[in-house]
Amino acid sequence: MSIVERARPEIRALVPYASARSLAAPAQVNLDANENPWASPADGGMALNRYPDPQPASLLSALSDLYGLPSNQVLITRGSDEAIDLLVRAFCRSGQDAVAQCPPCFGMYAIAARIQGARVIDCPLQGGDFDLPVESLCQIQDPDLKLIFLCSPNNPTGSSLDSSEVLELCAAQPDALVVVDEAYAEFAGHSLLSEVGRVPNLAVLRTLSKAWSLAGARCGALLASQDVIDLLRRILPPYPLPTPSICAVERALSPEGRQIMTRQVKRLIGLRNEVSRRLAEDSSVSRVWDSEANFLLVRMPEAARFYRHAAEAGVLLRDFSAVPGLENCLRISIGTEEDMERLFGVLEQWRRAA
Ligand SMILES: *Cc1c(COP(=O)(O)O)cnc(C)c1O
Repeated sequence: MSIVERARPEIRALVPYASARSLAAPAQVNLDANENPWASPADGGMALNRYPDPQPASLLSALSDLYGLPSNQVLITRGSDEAIDLLVRAFCRSGQDAVAQCPPCFGMYAIAARIQGARVIDCPLQGGDFDLPVESLCQIQDPDLKLIFLCSPNNPTGSSLDSSEVLELCAAQPDALVVVDEAYAEFAGHSLLSEVGRVPNLAVLRTLSKAWSLAGARCGALLASQDVIDLLRRILPPYPLPTPSICAVERALSPEGRQIMTRQVKRLIGLRNEVSRRLAEDSSVSRVWDSEANFLLVRMPEAARFYRHAAEAGVLLRDFSAVPGLENCLRISIGTEEDMERLFGVLEQWRRAA
């Protein structure tokens, strides 16, 4: 059975919106879409007067090359947030179906599920090192379980998953799509992308928002078997990707852009390791978790108070102290060298005031 047979029947039966241009060969004169024939002063040579291709061939081919998968296994989305939403809407019947997740994790999986009216099955990460609860995930016996969201490296813990455990889960839950969110994979240097297509119920989410430094362009990708990609294309809005974003991502993926990304990632990893070491030595910090991403999870007494102290000093951190399992924890993104010195200055002030 194809995993797509687990999708909502009305989505599988849907005849998608077809623009005139998607049905015809490229023309010399386009009188089909009620566009203005003249350029706007804001055009910047991008032909912004024209509707963009829903999945531009050149960007699709650049992403297919980047991720090492055929372009029919790639769906370009407005950030991975949109891919999460499309997956939940395509697979989950409101008031009936369920998604599973392993908190503490990225908040959008549960939000997308609740918006769709899907149940959320929580299988919390285990122990002080946030290990994947493989056995409890494998043992879920819910005929309406449709999606299992995993995240590696995980936000906000920074911990990575063991690929063999993910594959074990895919085999144990063949009727659910296992979605591995790899938003930070460039910082970890390992990925499950090579298993996509080979394992029919495995999907991977990637984004240009983190390592690629394009959070403002809103571009992400879902990598999955072709039938899953074809299914989601049906519910994609007709013109999801703004032309300026398409142009920005294509420039970033040029050979020169790729070199710059690699250098920035190396620099962030070096900084992360140094900041992690310094924080671990800091007497006001009680724990720094190992991280394979561009952020660190730390625990300190009175974390919520320190969070407010730092914010008043102009340094915004992410407060997780009210999240179960993350008592007194803060997440610190790795910024520039100067940003991190500001943070250490704030910590020193805090120690002196204590
Ligand atoms: C930042 C982040 C994303 C990225 O979302 P975009 O919509 O692509 O910007 C996805 N998943 C996780 C876990 C993240 O931390």
